[in-house]
Amino acid sequence: MKAEFAANAWPGMRDALNSGTPVVGILPCGATEAHGPHLPLNTDVIISETMAAYALPLLAARGIAATVLPPLAYMPANYAEAFSGTVSIRTATAKALLLDIAASLKAQGLACVALANSHFDPANVAMLREAVDEIRATGFPVAFPDFTRRKLAQTLTAEFQSGACHAGQYETSLVMAARPDLVDDAARLSLQDNPASLTEAFAKGARTFEQAGGPNAYFGFPRHASAEEGIESYRTMAAALVAAVEEALAARGWTTTVSIGKSQLRVGGARLRRDARYGINLPDSGDCRLCEGNSGEID
Ligand SMILES: [Zn+2]
Repeated sequence: MKAEFAANAWPGMRDALNSGTPVVGILPCGATEAHGPHLPLNTDVIISETMAAYALPLLAARGIAATVLPPLAYMPANYAEAFSGTVSIRTATAKALLLDIAASLKAQGLACVALANSHFDPANVAMLREAVDEIRATGFPVAFPDFTRRKLAQTLTAEFQSGACHAGQYETSLVMAARPDLVDDAARLSLQDNPASLTEAFAKGARTFEQAGGPNAYFGFPRHASAEEGIESYRTMAAALVAAVEEALAARGWTTTVSIGKSQLRVGGARLRRDARYGINLPDSGDCRLCEGNSGEID
């Protein structure tokens, strides 16, 4: 199975789904939305796809087969609607799309869908939370690291936590790390700092970027962005995505393990053994369909 889902021919997907190894579909959730005068409209698509790409080797090291689905490029983006280039869709449309994609992935036997989201428009985040609940209610595991929750927000940069987190230092760094060719550096370096907090403005009832103090569709400190910071943020986000996938799979009885040299870190107290075919570490339980044909104790 190729890491890029849509690059597979259908027999490749069939064989992967029949292999007995759980297959995780990572769905990058972006937007087509104004991101200041210096970043492209597809900033959130780039960030979410790159987060997924950073997660792939981490998942592989845990014996989890993952593939990155085509991204969601159109999502609710009400705050940026006034800016040319923003394409905002209704939350009902977005939610229906997510539910339909999840139902299709479930029907063909994927083990889990993982939402890699970097688009934090309040309507979008609220829609994602509802969709996650509804998908889980169908019995399909969803991994969703919600970076707007305090616990995960605290793992990201100070600017992100301040709420001045649209097209500022945080997002600009992420695009510089992934697609520097799409950053207008002259425009970036000419931008005044804009410490206005979007999250505080949301709480006070602002309905647009202009009302929130961002007349040029950016907040924060784009001048201070760097590719190095972007790489660090990707590592943090990818780790959160992986942890969410492990949690979602563990809830279904699929326990993974991390290789640290030759020793093994046990997860969930399960006794693990290696699947000779896939090099995957699996729980030593009698009724696990993934354990069929396993041989070779790890320790
Ligand atoms: Zn963004």
